[in-house]
Amino acid sequence: MAIDFSFPPELEALRLRVREFIDTVVRPAEEEIDEKNRDSLVAGVLRMRKAAHEWGLWLPQMPAEYGGMGLGHVAMAAVSAEAAKARFGPFALNAQAPDEGNMHTLLHWATDEQKEIYLRPLCEGRMRSCFAMTEPEVAGSDPTLIQTRAVLDGDEWVINGHKWFISGARGARFAILIARTEDDPEIPQAANSAFLVDLPAPGWELVRDVETMSGGHNHCEIRIRELRVPVDRMLGGRGQGHLLGQARLGPARLAHCMRWLGQAETALDMMVDRATKRFAHGSYLSEKQGIQWMIADSTMELYQAKLMVLHSAYRIDAGADFRTEVSMAKHFVANALNRIVDRAIQVHGALGYSTDTPLAQMATQARWARFADGADEVHQWRIAQRAIEAYGRDGSTRAATGNLPL
Ligand SMILES: Cc1cc2nc3c(=O)[nH]c(=O)nc-3n(C[C@H](O)[C@H](O)[C@H](O)COP(=O)(O)OP(=O)(O)OC[C@H]3O[C@@H](n4cnc5c(N)ncnc54)[C@H](O)[C@@H]3O)c2cc1C
Repeated sequence: MAIDFSFPPELEALRLRVREFIDTVVRPAEEEIDEKNRDSLVAGVLRMRKAAHEWGLWLPQMPAEYGGMGLGHVAMAAVSAEAAKARFGPFALNAQAPDEGNMHTLLHWATDEQKEIYLRPLCEGRMRSCFAMTEPEVAGSDPTLIQTRAVLDGDEWVINGHKWFISGARGARFAILIARTEDDPEIPQAANSAFLVDLPAPGWELVRDVETMSGGHNHCEIRIRELRVPVDRMLGGRGQGHLLGQARLGPARLAHCMRWLGQAETALDMMVDRATKRFAHGSYLSEKQGIQWMIADSTMELYQAKLMVLHSAYRIDAGADFRTEVSMAKHFVANALNRIVDRAIQVHGALGYSTDTPLAQMATQARWARFADGADEVHQWRIAQRAIEAYGRDGSTRAATGNLPL
C-alpha cells in the first residue's frame, strides 16, 4: 500500500520533542511575561529563542544554509500544530507570521545580495519584517485595485500610498511592500511590483496600531509619502507583485492552517476535559447527548481539518499543483476552528467567556481566519471555478477534489 499516514520515527520523535518544549519551556515562560511591558515581552521571547536553539528546534522551516532545520511542509504541519498550542510557540521557534511567509518569499525571489541583507538576519532572529499589501480604500480581496503607486525617478522608485493591517509593522526592520508600477499591463494581475523597504524610513509613517476586537496586536496603518527605494530593492521583476503574493500566500495560508490545528486541538481537549468534570442535573456534561454532539462534531471536523492540511502539505512537498487543496484547507480549517472554539466556550459556560482560560482570546483571534489571507467567499469562488473547469475538461470533478485515487 502506498498510502501511509504514519510519520517516519524521526519526525514523530521531533513532534514529541516540540510538544515537550512547549510544555516545559514556552508555557512557563509565557506566564512570566507581562505583555503590557515591552521589555518583559522582548526578554521573554529572547529567553524562549535561546532555549529553542539549545533544544535544536530553531527555524524548522528554512534550509540548513540559513541556520534552519530544512523541514518540508508535511513535517512543518507536525511541528507547527504542536508549537501553536501555546501562543508564543511559533515565535520561540522563529516560525511566526508574517516572518515565516516573508522568509519563503525571499528564499525563492530575492537576489543573492538581497538574501544576505534581509533573509539571513531574519533567519537569525536579528530582524523582524512585515508584508504590506492591504489598503483601507480598496478591497484587499482584489489586489488589482491597489492604489499605492511607485514611479521610477532615475535609480530610485518614489512611492506614495496608504496601507493598513500591516502585521508586525511596529518594530519591523524591513517591509515587503506591494505597489502599482505598470500603467497598462497585459493582464490586470501584472500591474504590481514588490519592494524591499528598509525601516524606519522617511516617507513611511506609522499612523496607528489598529485596535481590533482582540485588542492591539501590531496590525498597523501606514501612510507612505514620497518614499524613495533604490532600484536594486525591487523584489522579483516589474509586474510580478501579484505572482509573488500568490506564491507567498499558498504555503503561508497552509502555515496558518497548521497553527489553527494546534488551537482547535487545544479547544477540543479543553471541551472534553471540562465536560468530564462538570456535573449538572444528575450527570456529568459528558454524559448528556447535547454535549456529546458538540464533542462529536468537533472531533469529526478536526479529523477532516488534519487530513486536508496533511494532503495539501504533501502536494506542496511533491511539487504538485496545490492551489485548490490549499484553498479548501484554508476555508475549512478556518471555519472549523471558529466552530470548535465556540463550542468549547459553550461547554465551559461563564468560565469560557472569561479571560481565565485561553478560549476567549482564541475566539477573537479565530474570527479573522475567515477573511484574512483570502476571504471564505473568494476561496469558495475559486474552488467552484476549478470544479467547473475540471468537469468541462475531463467530464468529471475528480481533479478538483484533491485528485485523490478514489
Ligand atoms: C489580523 C489581521 C492581520 C492582517 N495582516 C495583514 C498583513 O500583514 N499584510 C496585509 O497586507 N494585510 C493584512 N491583513 C489584511 C487582510 O489580508 C485583508 O483583511 C483581506 O485580504 C481582506 O481584505 P479586506 O479586509 O479589504 O476585505 P474586502 O476585500 O473588502 O472583503 C470584505 C468581504 O467581502 C466579501 N468578498 C470579497 N470578495 C468577494 C467575492 N469575490 N465574492 C464574494 N464575496 C466577496 C467577503 O465576505 C469579504 O470578507 C490582515 C488582516 C487581519 C484581520
